[in-house]
Amino acid sequence: MSDVNDKPSVWFHTFGCKANQYDTERIRQELELRGAETALHADAADIAVINTCTVTNQADANARRLVRRLRRQRPDLRIVVAGCSTSFREAEYHALEEVDGVVPGHDPSAVARLVPELEDSGAAGPVTAGASDASSAPLQRNARGTRAWLKIQDGCDRKCSFCATRIARGASISRAVDDVVAEAATLARVHPELVLTGIHIGHYGKDLAAGSAGTSPGLATLCERLLEEVPARLRLSSIEATEIDDRLVDLLAASDGRLAPHLHVPMQSGSDRVLRLMRRWHTREAYRARVLAIAERLGAIGSGAFGLGADIIVGFPGEGEEEFEETRTLVEELPYTYLHVFPYSVRDGTVAASLPDRVPGDVAAARSRTLREIGLRKGQAYLETRAGTIADIVVEGRDDRVAGVTGDYLRVELLGDATPGDRFSARLRACDGRLTAVVPASAPAAAAV
Ligand code: SF4
Repeated sequence: MSDVNDKPSVWFHTFGCKANQYDTERIRQELELRGAETALHADAADIAVINTCTVTNQADANARRLVRRLRRQRPDLRIVVAGCSTSFREAEYHALEEVDGVVPGHDPSAVARLVPELEDSGAAGPVTAGASDASSAPLQRNARGTRAWLKIQDGCDRKCSFCATRIARGASISRAVDDVVAEAATLARVHPELVLTGIHIGHYGKDLAAGSAGTSPGLATLCERLLEEVPARLRLSSIEATEIDDRLVDLLAASDGRLAPHLHVPMQSGSDRVLRLMRRWHTREAYRARVLAIAERLGAIGSGAFGLGADIIVGFPGEGEEEFEETRTLVEELPYTYLHVFPYSVRDGTVAASLPDRVPGDVAAARSRTLREIGLRKGQAYLETRAGTIADIVVEGRDDRVAGVTGDYLRVELLGDATPGDRFSARLRACDGRLTAVVPASAPAAAAV
């Protein structure tokens, strides 16, 4: 803990997605600009800021459990909670006696106001998620890692029946192209890779004013500007397959790896009946056809490197054996290189929470295992196709625990001295089911991450 005269030290903990992690970095930056120090451990902190997630009931429970544990261990710690769960359940957090401050949402200035011993630096205006980000100073660095998250929009206009994130974060709001580019240029000074993230990045720009061409700038326009003006490798985070237009695919194909050849395209289910219950806007065939067209285009370029991932929910209410089989066969057909499989988890307050025909937990668990095994098998098969080819590798990790991440999102064991922030090209080799690469003697100096 800091001395009486010192500025307060703050420990940050983030639950949930990349967008939430980005929001924590904005809060951290705001508090540091006002004089706070970041504590590496809760034991050494005066204040804990917990950025919560509300994707499932379990996510809410995890945040409450952490609050209680911290209070038990450190009765004198000031605990501030923020984030999606606090937006959704603000009154419940106010009622928690262990909590000292509640910020519904992610406004760094609102968090700072709960720490009166910090100076009012005026460094940033009110920053809630989305458009008002544009009025604040660009994020200078991402303290949590080598690859930096860059939030380009917040919120979502879709209404998937299982999703509480949309309810917590509201409608889609995009940051202005110039603001994103300015922040990306700043982050690229210290980060070799920037991950374009948000809650629904496929809708980027739809809410922005039309430019001289008479149309709003879309994700492809933003990526073009970033590729022109920012030297880092860029990566798209999760994006809906049906919202990836041809212009974006062309950019992916023509950027020579600058826009990483990797897409994560949520499937959720391969059954039209379940997709309707999920209130998804696309059919099985619309998803299938788009993914196949993109994969065909991207897999046919350069080394053929193309990482493809998907989120899938199994055991959604109403998913019988027939519906699951439709999902399984679609998973088998599409050229995934990895899968994220989630057994359905109830989220109070969503439409799906009141759907009948719940799937027993053991059935959902067995379906999860089936899909995960397929995902692992496909990943292994893809990995073998990459052995012997050249990859663009970014080194991430800390100290002696470093690893390489390729453009197509493979983890590579590094042979030789590498420092987080290094980026180099090397030939991949297969070894006992994993990929390795020799670090070249002339690997560029690490950026200061
Ligand atoms: S697309 Fe659906 S799952 Fe994704 S954020 Fe929007 S409502 Fe939630």
